[in-house]
Amino acid sequence: MPWSIKLGRIFGIDIKMHVTFLLILVWGAFAYGGSAGPLYGLLVTVSLFTLVLLHELGHSLAALGFGIGVRDITLLPIGGVARLERMPEKPLQELVIALAGPLVNVLLAVGLLPVVGGLGLLQGEGFSLRLFTQPGLLGWLMFLLSANVSLAVFNMLPAFPLDGGRVFRAIMAFFTDYRQATEVAANVGRALALGLGLFAIFMGQIWLALIALFIFMAGGQEAQAVAARSILHQARAGQALSAEAIALAPEATVGEAATMLMGTPRPHFVVMDPTTGQLLGVANRGQIMRAIQSGQWFYPIADIMDQARSIPVVAVSDPLDEVQDVLTRTASPIAAVYDDLHFRGLITPDDIYRLFRLLSEQSRGSRQVRWNIIG
Ligand SMILES: [Zn+2]
Repeated sequence: MPWSIKLGRIFGIDIKMHVTFLLILVWGAFAYGGSAGPLYGLLVTVSLFTLVLLHELGHSLAALGFGIGVRDITLLPIGGVARLERMPEKPLQELVIALAGPLVNVLLAVGLLPVVGGLGLLQGEGFSLRLFTQPGLLGWLMFLLSANVSLAVFNMLPAFPLDGGRVFRAIMAFFTDYRQATEVAANVGRALALGLGLFAIFMGQIWLALIALFIFMAGGQEAQAVAARSILHQARAGQALSAEAIALAPEATVGEAATMLMGTPRPHFVVMDPTTGQLLGVANRGQIMRAIQSGQWFYPIADIMDQARSIPVVAVSDPLDEVQDVLTRTASPIAAVYDDLHFRGLITPDDIYRLFRLLSEQSRGSRQVRWNIIG
């Protein structure tokens, strides 16, 4: 995410903070400080987001357990986001990953309960919710306890992108297909967000109203993303390949490649063995331009290209959603498409997008009925 600051690394996962998060720290310092002052408020705010971070680590460790990589965890004013390298394939995996976050908060709450209760008895305060507004050790522990309970309960609301929405979808996906499950879950979530938003406005809770608005919009995005994915899932890598492509022999010079750059909008040149048709490597526009600038006009293209082994490989029959996952996971702008052992071409996110637009227009078109009313 742009505008994020890296805070550190846990279990090989980058922990980041969005710059807007600093606003929350300042706001929290004064809102939670009470009679103890802004420093105590800051402690309370930081501990609240430590709980959010632990919650996200719960999701992340569950994902890692299923062999799904976690790119990073970012703390935002509205909460934390753990970015997984791919979506879990099976509903059961999604269910476990979604539950793992709130489970961390439930366990922390269960652990804190006897501590808070015991300390409350010792200090003769008993057990009162009102305590968490009082600065001090007991107030702070009480705050941690209630924050964990709130985080678990709030995140289990059945609305995207909250964990409860994912749990709801995963359970429904056992009975119906994933796309339909998402649509139902997104609609239920949006109805809930609407209710939450109205409640927040009546109660004068601006922050909660903003979160409700965010949930409402995110629900629609989730449904759209899944619909898009299901369109891509039905298409194959081979369909996205462009009909014509230019290949260079390894001894072609950088100068020749540069001349050809003028005539093609494609940013990559394939370098192939002319006798076997084997892919040797790929040279991109930037590499060719840099080589020209450093006077390597007569160098063979093979000297400046990326070797074929460094380029991710997909099969012509692979579904396009999986091809997209490969590109995302490897952070590569291209993948080499093979039909068995034969190289067929390169595929880029642009190729996928172009085919996606074509297919989504077609599927929209097929639903339209043109009436010819006679008489
Ligand atoms: Zn969560």
